[in-house]
Amino acid sequence: MGKVYLTGAGPGDIELLTVKALRVVKEADVIIYDRLANPDILAEAKDGCEFVYVGKEDSHHTLPQEEINEVIYQAALKYENVVRLKGGDPFVFGRGGEEGIYLYERDIKFEFIPGVTSAIAVPEYAGIPVTHRGITVSFRVVTGHESSGKDHSQIPWENYKSDDTIIFLMGLHRLKRIATKLMEIGKPKDYPIAVISRGTRPDEKTVVGTLENIYEKAKDLPTPALIVVGEVVKLREQLNWFEK
Ligand code: SAH
Repeated sequence: MGKVYLTGAGPGDIELLTVKALRVVKEADVIIYDRLANPDILAEAKDGCEFVYVGKEDSHHTLPQEEINEVIYQAALKYENVVRLKGGDPFVFGRGGEEGIYLYERDIKFEFIPGVTSAIAVPEYAGIPVTHRGITVSFRVVTGHESSGKDHSQIPWENYKSDDTIIFLMGLHRLKRIATKLMEIGKPKDYPIAVISRGTRPDEKTVVGTLENIYEKAKDLPTPALIVVGEVVKLREQLNWFEK
């Protein structure tokens, strides 16, 4: 029976892969990977390593999570070194916990390898610090995705009245609703917001706007994309370095 490495692949730029992740990728007998994990990482694997794609587009799963869990489990019965490679960090909306519990219940050994999460690194490449002295003392990372068919919002909007930086993952298709909700709970309509598309990759693109106009400006950006809300967005004027 093998061991499973539940491994963060970082946000896109292959150089943001950790040294530890690179080591297990090089030793892997099989790599089970997501759409958000940079496929160039697979080139680091040894000859004969098997690749299994269980891609996810935002939260629209190509394979249901239960089936992904089973694919990982079956791989662990067959191979010694199993790498489950996930975009960003396994625990930040990565369902790494669910995969770990599935393995725990079946007596499979596993390790988590943290990854650089897009929630912080993507704003960083866009020149937007998630905290900044004198501007904000905290940040929140929130899912922008709400299951359709629910008649009430799962997102506790009333909690977002404070001036924390808010980072929405999986939210581009809900951009209009997110901006509208934030104005409804009292944020000014000229409050700063940015959408960052394909962050840390060569084709990264950031669009900055206000709660009132961001939807029109950013709705057609390609995914993956995340949304940053807060006064820190203005620091991009001085800190933008990557897209220059
Ligand atoms: N575990 C991942 C997040 C998974 S949720 C992490 O820690 O980064 C998937 C969401 O992450 C996407 O819908 C998008 O909002 C965001 N995301 C991931 N990679 C991104 C990138 N390179 N640029 C912009 N957003 C990204």
